Amino acid sequence: MRNSIFTISLDFELHWGRFDKFPLAAERDYYQNARLAIPKILELFEAFGIEATWATVGMLFAESWDEWKDYLPSDFPTYTNTNLSAFEWAANNMNADPKSLFAPELIKRIINSPGQEIGSHTFSHYYTQEEGQELSQFRADLKMAKKIAKEKFGLCLSSLVFPRNQYGPESIAICKEEGFEAFRGNPSDWFWRAPEKSNLLKKVFRTGDTLYALGNRTSYPLEQVFNDPSGMINLPASRLLRPYRQPSIFNQRRIQRIMEEMTLAAKNGEVYHLWWHPHNFGAYTSENLSFLKVILQHFKGLEEQYGMQSYNMLSLSGTHKKVKAVS
Ligand SMILES: [Zn+2]
Repeated sequence: MRNSIFTISLDFELHWGRFDKFPLAAERDYYQNARLAIPKILELFEAFGIEATWATVGMLFAESWDEWKDYLPSDFPTYTNTNLSAFEWAANNMNADPKSLFAPELIKRIINSPGQEIGSHTFSHYYTQEEGQELSQFRADLKMAKKIAKEKFGLCLSSLVFPRNQYGPESIAICKEEGFEAFRGNPSDWFWRAPEKSNLLKKVFRTGDTLYALGNRTSYPLEQVFNDPSGMINLPASRLLRPYRQPSIFNQRRIQRIMEEMTLAAKNGEVYHLWWHPHNFGAYTSENLSFLKVILQHFKGLEEQYGMQSYNMLSLSGTHKKVKAVS
């Protein structure tokens, strides 16, 4: 029987992933709680033998605004909608709370936890499909993401998650040229294609699909991961772990659906890729941690019964290299 794989990626961004949508002043407690939740997530991962990739916004590596200023890319994104630019936002918010924007001590903690990979979520939460930006600017952004990770922690970043899941063939090619080996693609369903062109119907289907299957099977064979036309390792997302927000019967149903999908992946010898944002645990923290624990317990059962394994994006890339070297 083929081994099935459970992989997790986390888009670690704090306010850099949300500044265009939420005023920072209203969100301070949320980020403070999220910061406290991260060591608890790491403890759960360790207890259940879980590997994960923390796709981290490069700006979070800085320890202060002063250090942030030392790491500005050679070229800023020229989005038509200037509200999307982290640099534009920063220029007007230099007095903002650093705890919502910088987290090198948490990155260090993740690095020191077993089985955890620091990946990239670009330097400035870059949107590759937004109007007005140019690919040379995306390249400059990735170079800075690599530089700050290397200089601060000696890391060589290998895995990437595109902010807001926006990508195209050209942006993937640039990632590859800049030395990334793996990325998280989007599910194959029509309601996940081109997330930058979202509409109500897509949103309704994406939400409905968290409760009952409305699209394709969410797990996929490992061969597909290694044979992506892009030449990169593509680990499409299976499911966004939507956060617990308020008491509702849907919370339980969403977790049930994730466990059903995991079981299907285990039985079919396929890959299941779960993802979320650590800041999602900033509200209803204990409920979110409890649900995560239920999912990880379920993984343990599948590990025992079907030999399902936990891999992060980097260790899967390494597995691929070893297989290639032998064949
Ligand atoms: Zn993001």
